[in-house]
Amino acid sequence: MKEIEPLQRLITRLARLPGVGRRSAERMAFRLALDTKGLRADLIGALQEVEEQICCCSVCGNLTLKSRDPCAICTDARRDRHLLCVVEDPSGIQQIEAAGSYQGVYHCMMGKLSPMQGQDIPPASVERLLKRIRDDAVREVILAFDSDVESDATASYLHEKLGSAEVRVTRLGFGIPAGSGIAYSDPVTLARALHGRQQF
Ligand SMILES: [Zn+2]
Repeated sequence: MKEIEPLQRLITRLARLPGVGRRSAERMAFRLALDTKGLRADLIGALQEVEEQICCCSVCGNLTLKSRDPCAICTDARRDRHLLCVVEDPSGIQQIEAAGSYQGVYHCMMGKLSPMQGQDIPPASVERLLKRIRDDAVREVILAFDSDVESDATASYLHEKLGSAEVRVTRLGFGIPAGSGIAYSDPVTLARALHGRQQF
């Protein structure tokens, strides 16, 4: 298969997508190459539309239409601008919005700290966050990162950086997943759930 270079290039690019391993990338590429139902053309069209019409919101970093920047959340007058939820990237916003109970605004850091992979949070990114906290008189920052080692490191780093700002800093309380039980929770989740316990 080595001689079919365009196919190899497609596999290499697909494998760069999150959650896609080499084997899955190969299956996708073969499916696209053998396409008989117009999927390939549809996909090219959809990618083109995203390229032409989508950008990151200039205020919060959420994905939005280029014709609607700042995004719908940033321009919604009913939102509490003094409550700021900091997420790793726009997928975090989507998840929290799907839960439907948050009425504040967001800020994407566009990455997390990962010393093992040499990833850093650019100082300019932290500066932008601090400026926003000052300009919008934010009273509470919620650090909404995943519960893994890198996310913990990112949250601690930001907590330290926000020390100079006069703002309340909180983080998500992690608990037992809905529909699950104590018996099925790993020790870290259980420890977090105990730590984040609430008054009954
Ligand atoms: Zn926005």
